[in-house]
Amino acid sequence: MIKLFNRRIVSLFLSIFCFVLFFSLCLSVFYQSSLSAELDAAQKDVKSLNGQISGLNDDKSEAENLLREKDRKLKEADGMINRQTTELESLKKELDKLKSQNEDGENEVSLPFGNTKIAYLTFDDGPSKNTPAILSVLENYNASATFFVINSQCNEYMERIAAAGHTLAMHSYSHKYEEIYESEEKYFEDLDMIHNLILELTGVDTNILRLPGGSSNMLSKEYCTGIMTKITESLTKRGYIYFDWNVDSADASSLDVSPGKIFDSVKKGVEGKDEVHILMHDTNSKTSTLQALPLILDYLVSQGYEFRAITPNTQPVHHTVHN
Ligand SMILES: [Zn+2]
Repeated sequence: MIKLFNRRIVSLFLSIFCFVLFFSLCLSVFYQSSLSAELDAAQKDVKSLNGQISGLNDDKSEAENLLREKDRKLKEADGMINRQTTELESLKKELDKLKSQNEDGENEVSLPFGNTKIAYLTFDDGPSKNTPAILSVLENYNASATFFVINSQCNEYMERIAAAGHTLAMHSYSHKYEEIYESEEKYFEDLDMIHNLILELTGVDTNILRLPGGSSNMLSKEYCTGIMTKITESLTKRGYIYFDWNVDSADASSLDVSPGKIFDSVKKGVEGKDEVHILMHDTNSKTSTLQALPLILDYLVSQGYEFRAITPNTQPVHHTVHN
């Protein structure tokens, strides 16, 4: 009896032991699978973080490249400014020398038949951000000039040009060769538009103009053969007066012409001429024209020139028409 009882107890313990073992096993399997899911998720996070880090690294190296590029450009600009400053200083010295020579009576300017030497300073393609500065230089020299204007972002300066006593004249509304030189009709449509814009903004009703590229330009041939001959003849018939130039400042000969080059071009161009029509440009990018302007004015004064604005009574300078 006792033996039987003992066997049952042993069997009961065995069953409980088996059950506990089985339960622990199940628990461990469940725990392991949940751990591996967490591990997977953590690995994914690590991967995405790695991706973000490499993206950030790319951004960083791109930013570093940009900084290096900016640095290089700044150094280049610095170099250019230094070169231009040195050039300007040497030009100023040269001018001072010329002035003192004049005061000493050397290189005395003799005028033919007692006439005055006249300089017509002309500015094409404005108004621009540089217009107010140009006007203030001209004011310092009490010099009148002529502005052949286009429809620009700075049209509000047209009134200031006129109010300062300069001549406001037509250049073009669009200044697009492919449009204005396509036909005579298109040219005069554009001319009417710039005429009316000037009239509207300033009350100035002008018949004075300069053709984009000058009357001698050959580019117009690409858009219409013979167009310059037709236009120039028509202009005169319709009562307009067009002006070319006999001195090119060369400020538009390339994108970045130094003040020294501009000054040299004018100096060379005026040599031996008593009446000069000087071509310059008034655009946002032509800061070197503005820098050269006081030197040009000083030089022209030293050579005995007086500054005048073009009027309908001014004798026009005409190039030979090639198209
Ligand atoms: Zn122009």
